[in-house]
Amino acid sequence: MSSKPESTEERNKVKKQVKKEETKTNPTIRIDLHIHTKYSGDANINPKLIVDQLYAHPHIKGVAITDHDTLQGYEHAQKLAKAYEDILIIPGIEISTEQGHITILGIEEKPIHTSTIEDVIDFTRKNAGIIIIPHPYRELGIGDKAKNIKADAIEVLNPRSTHKENKMAEELAREENLPGVAGSDAHKPREMWTAYTEVENGLKVHDALNAIKRGFVKVKATSARLQFKC
Ligand SMILES: [Zn+2]
Ligand SMILES: [Zn+2]
Repeated sequence: MSSKPESTEERNKVKKQVKKEETKTNPTIRIDLHIHTKYSGDANINPKLIVDQLYAHPHIKGVAITDHDTLQGYEHAQKLAKAYEDILIIPGIEISTEQGHITILGIEEKPIHTSTIEDVIDFTRKNAGIIIIPHPYRELGIGDKAKNIKADAIEVLNPRSTHKENKMAEELAREENLPGVAGSDAHKPREMWTAYTEVENGLKVHDALNAIKRGFVKVKATSARLQFKC
């Protein structure tokens, strides 16, 4: 049986229309979910630079500030961002536990106890935040311990990790049936925005976190070098 060209055309038209409607109701936002400011101690990015670049950026309109063990960078960026309506700043902290790094998003206060992963998870659950396992297979990552905890997402693309480490993280996300996310893990201005996550319907902090949890995300890299790093 031969297919009728007009019906295919018709179907494509309908598909396009549906896609258009979906985009209207579920706008996608591109978010760099992992960035450090000078308050991290090992980074030299000024919060003002993040806000200015985010405002000027043609595609990426959201960021999660994930300093090491502090919310100071987020607090500064958040204050500065109030002047702009169309950029999203998600509060975050990359916590150094005794077992490795754990990132929490959506909480505006620092956990009191941070020595174990369990302490951080308890606090995050009580405060309605989400848990992301950053660079699980790089130095200071929690590695296979990720299999024993209930996280919300795994960072599967981090430009500071090797190709192999990112692939292992991707495999972990698949095994654990968890969404994969990406962020630049920038510590210097030139590293900003090199990887990001496309989040469906995530224009507000709460919506973005929900979409991440539900897996309405896609990871992206802007640096071609990432493909060849090993
Ligand atoms: Zn880290
Ligand atoms: Zn980091």
